[in-house]
Amino acid sequence: MPDLFIDGTWRSALDERTREIRCPADGSLVGVVDEAGGKDTVEAIAAARRAFDEGPWPTTPAADRGDLLLRVADLLLRDKDALARAESLDTGKRLVESEYDIDDIANCFRYFGRAAAAETGRVVETGTASVDSRVVYEPVGVCALITPWNYPLLQTAWKVAPALAAGNTFVLKPSELTPHTAIHLMRLLEEAGLPPGVANLVLGAGPEAGAPLGDHPDVDLVSFTGGLQTGRRLMAAAAGTVKKVALELGGKNPNIVFADADFETAVDMALTAVFLHSGQVCSSGARLLVEDSLHDRFVDELVRRASEIRLGGPFDERAQSGPLVSAAHRAKVEAYVAKGLAEGAVLRCGGARPSGPEFEAGFYYPPTVLDECSSDMSVVQDESFGPVLTVERFSDEAEAVRLANDTIYGLAGAVFTTDEAKAQRVAARLRLGTVWINDYHPYVPQAEWGGFKQSGFGRELGPSGLAEYREAKHIWRNTNPSPQGWFA
Ligand code: NAD
Repeated sequence: MPDLFIDGTWRSALDERTREIRCPADGSLVGVVDEAGGKDTVEAIAAARRAFDEGPWPTTPAADRGDLLLRVADLLLRDKDALARAESLDTGKRLVESEYDIDDIANCFRYFGRAAAAETGRVVETGTASVDSRVVYEPVGVCALITPWNYPLLQTAWKVAPALAAGNTFVLKPSELTPHTAIHLMRLLEEAGLPPGVANLVLGAGPEAGAPLGDHPDVDLVSFTGGLQTGRRLMAAAAGTVKKVALELGGKNPNIVFADADFETAVDMALTAVFLHSGQVCSSGARLLVEDSLHDRFVDELVRRASEIRLGGPFDERAQSGPLVSAAHRAKVEAYVAKGLAEGAVLRCGGARPSGPEFEAGFYYPPTVLDECSSDMSVVQDESFGPVLTVERFSDEAEAVRLANDTIYGLAGAVFTTDEAKAQRVAARLRLGTVWINDYHPYVPQAEWGGFKQSGFGRELGPSGLAEYREAKHIWRNTNPSPQGWFA
């Protein structure tokens, strides 16, 4: 069955190109999918435009749109096993993590299903009895939704669910590396009764299948999650037609540990912060800032535990961490570590591919700790997006804050301390979209997600996430019109 979904029809690419998808854990063939080119994407944009301008979806009552999203949430859970398996095969991530993701994804659809009709406008007090005035929320129009490979369906859900809740139509382009769960989602939207043309899917490489989404005049909004360079390119492309732009970009996230932190908890969470999903998490706590007096004890214990993390494929129940997503990505991480060592970082563990027949066909890279780093090193400034932790020391609260803020990014980070007042002071001064206190990584769909500084622009999830996909229109009604006589 063909894999591009355009105007309610499944079809192949116009030039009949395809792409092999292989599992990063062992190189096995997962599937062969259709590979769109720019012409397919332009057709998908036209379908989304028609569905927006002429179709029923934008004017469907918000409560009915919400009901459809709630049905999709149920269908996602019905298909949880197949979806989790597909996600793990495409990404190489542990099955248990993919299963967890599918629950999150269903929750996201449920949240926006309920939010769709919760607030659709408000009355504005004008002080004039003969006028009624209200603000109504309307969909933005045709949305280009472009997503990365690290949490393929989760990142997709964070865009698709609010876009649909607000009444938009869209063209989705997932990462070319991990297309299978996006295909599955389109089938669920179809099954849930979404009208043709509202949801369109193109698969393929960014510069070809993705590029028209950035500059096509019929696209009203670009919502992108991915790397900083691609984000900059899309923002520039969108400027020509003044599209709404929402960007969720990279991070180089500080994890600050004070000497008075609960030791066991802080070590444990520092490991989760950076090594979850092999560090391929935008909010990964890849910069450990540890108070001088705690440094040696803390890093020794962290290194001991990091060295014991078991690597393995997605279905290996003993594995605690999986492979990187591709050969190219592993090469990037290796180059990053080499640069860090050349800059003077001290390798405490990892730093070389694991040996053994079980690792040969996959893109494995071990948990790696680079100690004695400083914030002028590129290894501290640049995102590796792999299982690599840099360690810096600080001597007091002010220095911790200064170092933590000393990058171009501002996505997320954490502070570990038992001093509540200090935790709040530090949290208030961190230029980050999310700050965890004595925790790392949790999120809820009711809260917002997004970056400060060059980590992004606009918010996802929560009420502001829905607001990204709406325009506020003010409607002023004069209930007692009569000539005003200005020019009488
Ligand atoms: P990427 O920028 O290489 O690709 C992301 C998507 O953009 C892919 O679908 C890709 O095909 C597409 N793309 C590439 N060039 C394009 C172009 N010219 N026009 C249109 N589309 C184009 O990023 P990636 O390697 O897939 O993902 C990793 C990055 O994503 C990391 O930097 C990570 O921090 C970031 N990320 C951020 C968040 C967040 O919430 N802030 C979440 C997940 C990932």
